[in-house]
Amino acid sequence: MSHDESPAVEATEATDIDAVIVGAGFSGLYMLHRLRELGLSVRVYEKGNGVGGTWYWNRYPGARCDSESHIYCYSFSDDILDEWEWSERYPEQPEILEYLQFAADHLELRRDIEFNTEITGAEFDEASETWTVATDDGERVSSQFFISAVGCLSEPFLPDFDGLDDFEGEWYHTARWPESVDLEGKRVGVIGTGSTGIQLIPEVAERAGHLSVLQRTPNYAVPARNRPLNDEEYEEIRENYDEIWSEARDSRLGMPFDTEHNSARQLSEEEIHEALEKRWQQGGFRFLHAFEPGHTLSNAETNEIVSEFIRDKIREKVDDPDDAESLVPTSHPYGAKRPPMDYNGYYETYNRDDVRLVDVDDAPITTFTADGIQTETDHYDLDVVIFATGFDAMTGALLELDIQGRDGLSISEKWNAGPRTYLGLGISGFPNLFTITGPQSPSVLTNMPMAIEQHVEWITDCIEHMQREGYQTIEPTEESESQWVSQTNMLADNMLFSEAESWYRGANVPGKEQVFTPFPGGLDMYRDICDRVAEDDYDGFELRRASDAPVAEQ
Ligand code: NAP
Repeated sequence: MSHDESPAVEATEATDIDAVIVGAGFSGLYMLHRLRELGLSVRVYEKGNGVGGTWYWNRYPGARCDSESHIYCYSFSDDILDEWEWSERYPEQPEILEYLQFAADHLELRRDIEFNTEITGAEFDEASETWTVATDDGERVSSQFFISAVGCLSEPFLPDFDGLDDFEGEWYHTARWPESVDLEGKRVGVIGTGSTGIQLIPEVAERAGHLSVLQRTPNYAVPARNRPLNDEEYEEIRENYDEIWSEARDSRLGMPFDTEHNSARQLSEEEIHEALEKRWQQGGFRFLHAFEPGHTLSNAETNEIVSEFIRDKIREKVDDPDDAESLVPTSHPYGAKRPPMDYNGYYETYNRDDVRLVDVDDAPITTFTADGIQTETDHYDLDVVIFATGFDAMTGALLELDIQGRDGLSISEKWNAGPRTYLGLGISGFPNLFTITGPQSPSVLTNMPMAIEQHVEWITDCIEHMQREGYQTIEPTEESESQWVSQTNMLADNMLFSEAESWYRGANVPGKEQVFTPFPGGLDMYRDICDRVAEDDYDGFELRRASDAPVAEQ
C-alpha cells in the first residue's frame, strides 16, 4: 500500500459478481437494467431506503425539476412512455419520485438493489483484476466492474458557521429534508438564494409566521411558467416523441427547443427586446434559446443584453427600491452560474410585510446564537434555520466512496489539484471504474436524463465489446486523460463561466480546488466524440485480457 496506510476494504470473505453500481437514481436504475439485459450479475447499493436518488433526498417545500417533465424522463422504453403521464409542465418532486418507483417496478429492478446500505470503500486488486467493495453492514463483494451512479449534486454542503451547536431552534439542510417539518407561524431564516432557495422561499413565506432571507449573492431567476398539461397537449407529445427525442439528443442542452438567432448582434434593439420578451413569456430554459445558448454563454456583449433584460424585470417586480437593487445580480453574467427558475412569484415574495431581505454580503453572518443568527451589524431572532446552501458538487459524493485504484492510489490523492478523467467516464489508474455523469462530461449543463442515457448506453456497449473480444480490463491512458482535461478547460476558458464563483468550479466550498468541472461543449458534440472513441476501438483507453500484457494500446 504505497499511498494510503489504511486499506479501503478490510480483508474478509467476498462474494463474486460482475458489476457493482452505487446509487439507485435515474443513472443507477437504468445501468442496472442495461447490464441485466447483457446477462451480467449486478448489485446496486443505495444509502436511502428507496429508489430516486436526488428526488429521494430533496423533499423541501417547492422542490420541482427545472427541465420540462415530458423530457425529464427515460426515452429508452416505449412502455414506460406509454404508461406514464406527467400532470404539469414541470414535475414536482413527489411525482418524479413516484415516476422512478414506477420505472423500478416496471423493469423489476428492486430485487437487485440493497437499500439502506452505504459503500465504505472500494479497492482494485491487481492480482485478480477485480474490485472489492465494502459496505457499512460489513458485506464485501468482489466484482469485475465498479460503476458510480452517485449523481453530481448529492453531497450537501453545510457552511462551517460558528455557534451552530449552540442554536436552540431547529435547522435543516434542504437536501436532507425530513418527512415533515412544521413551519406554521414560526420565525424562519433561509440561507441561500440558488435554484433551491428560489424554489423554497415563496413556499416558506406562505407557511412561516415571519421569514428572513439571508442573501449573499443575488441571482437571475426567470419565470418557469408552470401549468397543468392538458389531454390534447399530452396526446401531441406522445405522437411526436420520436422527433422530440431525436432533437433533444442532437442538441447542446439535451432539450428539443428551437433557437431563434445565432447572435444578438445582427438585430436592432427592438428586435432583441422582442426576441427576449417572447422567450420570457415562454419561460424556463426556453428563455436561454432567445439566441444560440452557446453564444449567450460565451459572448460578453450578447450576455450583457440578456442580463440587463432580466435585471429590468426584477426591478419591475419588487416594490421597495432598496430591496430591488439588492436583488439585482451584477457580480456575474447570466448563465455563468446555473440559471434558476421562478415558479411562484419569487421576487414578489419580497413585497410581503412578513418577509425581510437581509444582505449578508454587506454584513456577513458572524455566528449562530442560542436564539438566532448574528451578522456583523444585527441579530435575527429565529425558531428555524433552513440551509439552502447547495452541494459539494461533481466530486463530493464520488470521493466519499473512498475508491483506491492501482498501487493503492485513492481518487482524492489523484485529484488533489482537481478532477482528472477521460470523457468523464473513466479515470487512469482505476481500471473498470465507470463514472456516470462524472466530472468533465456534459451532465449538469444538460437535461440530465439525456446525459445519463448516453453514458449508460456507452458503458453498456463498451462492456459488451469487452465480453465479445475477451478483455478483462479497460482503463484510460494518462495521455488521453490529460488531453481531455485540457480540452474541457480550453472550452470553458472561451466561455463566461470563469466570471462567477459557482459550484461548477468548486468555488462554493472553501478550500476546494477550483477547476471547471462539467464539459461545456454541448451534449451533441460530446456524443459525437464518445461515438468516435468507441468506433475507433476505444481510442484513448487501454484494453487488457486477463493477467496479460496490453492487447491494444491506442
Ligand atoms: P447553490 O446554487 O450552490 O446555492 C447555494 C446558496 O447558498 C447560494 O446563494 C450561496 O451564496 C449560499 N451560501 C453558501 N454558503 C453561504 C454562506 N456561508 N453564507 C451565506 N450564503 C451562503 O445550491 P442550490 O440552490 O442547492 O443549487 C445547486 C444546484 O442544484 C442548482 O444549481 C441546480 O443545478 C440543482 N437544482 C436543481 C433544481 C431543479 O432542477 N429544480 C432545484 C434545485 C437545485 P453565494 O451565491 O454567494 O455563494
